[in-house]
Amino acid sequence: MKNNKIKLQYLIVGVTLLSFILTSIVSIWSGYKLNKANLGESAMITNRVYAQKVAETANNYLAEQQKILKVNTKYIAERIDDQSHLEKHADFIRNQTSAFNSIAIVNNKAVVLATSPQSLDLVGVKLIAEATKKAIKEQKPMISQPYTSVSGRLIVFVTTPIFSKKNEYLGLIGGTIYLKEKNILYKLLGAHPYDDQSTVYVVDRDGTIIYDERKKNIARDLPDNDIINMAIHKKTTGVVKGENTENQIAFAGYAHVKNADWMVIAQRPASAVEAPAKQLFKQMFLIALPFLAISLIIVIFLSYRIAKPLQRLAQLTESSKLNDEENNFRSVQAWYYEVIQLKEALIQSFSHLHEQVLELTGKSERDGLTGLYNRRTLDDRLMSWTKEQKSYAVIMFDVDHFKNVNDTYGHDVGDEVLRFIAAAMLQHVRTTDSCYRFGGEEFVILLPGASVDVAYERAEELRQYFEQTNSPTSLPIHISAGVAECPNDGVEGNDVLKKADQLLYEAKQNGRNQVRKSN
Ligand code: GH3
Ligand code: MG
Ligand code: MG
Repeated sequence: MKNNKIKLQYLIVGVTLLSFILTSIVSIWSGYKLNKANLGESAMITNRVYAQKVAETANNYLAEQQKILKVNTKYIAERIDDQSHLEKHADFIRNQTSAFNSIAIVNNKAVVLATSPQSLDLVGVKLIAEATKKAIKEQKPMISQPYTSVSGRLIVFVTTPIFSKKNEYLGLIGGTIYLKEKNILYKLLGAHPYDDQSTVYVVDRDGTIIYDERKKNIARDLPDNDIINMAIHKKTTGVVKGENTENQIAFAGYAHVKNADWMVIAQRPASAVEAPAKQLFKQMFLIALPFLAISLIIVIFLSYRIAKPLQRLAQLTESSKLNDEENNFRSVQAWYYEVIQLKEALIQSFSHLHEQVLELTGKSERDGLTGLYNRRTLDDRLMSWTKEQKSYAVIMFDVDHFKNVNDTYGHDVGDEVLRFIAAAMLQHVRTTDSCYRFGGEEFVILLPGASVDVAYERAEELRQYFEQTNSPTSLPIHISAGVAECPNDGVEGNDVLKKADQLLYEAKQNGRNQVRKSN
């Protein structure tokens, strides 16, 4: 019966553990979230700084190349009709800058005059690409959008107009960058220095990828890409979190290359960025584990201390057989309020029960109302003293007109007066003396070894005390007493009692509120 009930100790351990685990989860989880957010934030900033640096380098480099092309226009303009001069110069420019995959000198009708390398075999060919037309029309330095050239390559065309000394427009020098081949951008932008899954790529103003360090996505149109959309929309420096070209969520930074109207984008997938947070999460968990173990031990110990007294009380009530139960309950170490109260209540109710059982079975030693010994105890004691031939004195007294107390104040007040009398008796006797309720409002005191005179004095003291002290009725009570002794007034206990009773009767007859003793 007792084993399938949940025990308090397990409940305490369970509840405490649960709260510890919940608190740990909440704090570790919020730490993880915070850490993840910080990592994302700083990844975006790092990428933005890097994109900015790359954009700046590209911008300066392109400006530099256009300047070189411009310087050379002077020499070309001087001898624009000299085919071999143009070819030599084209080679010279290509070698000088090493920025371009090829160089073309084009006249103002868009016809190619010379190329480097000459193997392109384009001399005399009219260029029809929009970029060329636009450059000739506007007569300004330009960097084209990516397009497929006559040679079938995907290129970006960097052009500078050629003017004669008289400022007539003669055509242009153009440098090409082959987007899908080894080109200056790779040398210039290089690979991202960090081996952390970061990537860098460059898009033109329409969002077409023109440089990708992994070369995978060049010229792929990715119109719905979050990061590219944001970058070409803003055309400035900034950060964004969104889906990257590999359809992963990534943290990106971007920057604008003004001279070419390109955007440099540096990005790192969120999975890579947030990996340390996961690591930290694991570490925090591992750090928390020993604390969890220590807490568990402490909790088990404390819960044992808390549950133990209650458990003991519970066991005692379960196995109680009345006998000696009070002492068992007293042995329980009650150290906190609830258990102290419970223990006291159990002791009281058990001892009360015990008393009642004894009384019902005729084994009680004491009177239930006053707590004094009862008449049976008096008889037993006198009997054994008679056997032992012990000498003693007896005081027997009766309350005067006690009936009036009951009649005037009620039976409950009458009971209180009886308890008041019992307390006064115990106060006035020596430790060797013993007090008895003989019946109703009659009491007896046994004084072992005492003479009738000593007992008389004690009785007189008591009588005077009652005479001078207010009882629970707010008025004093009076008593009449008879005092006898053994063996002078009888050898048997009963005889001595009889003598005392007779003297008491005399006291009543003689006007009450007095003590009578034998001679
Ligand atoms: P006397 O001076 O002659 O002794 O007068 P008395 O009224 O004291 O004597 P009596 O024997 O006529 O009355 C005793 C009363 O004591 C009657 C009874 O109701 C009352 N009594 C006896 N036992 C108890 C008790 O346990 N509680 C209360 N309240 N009254 C009790
Ligand atoms: Mg009386
Ligand atoms: Mg009486």
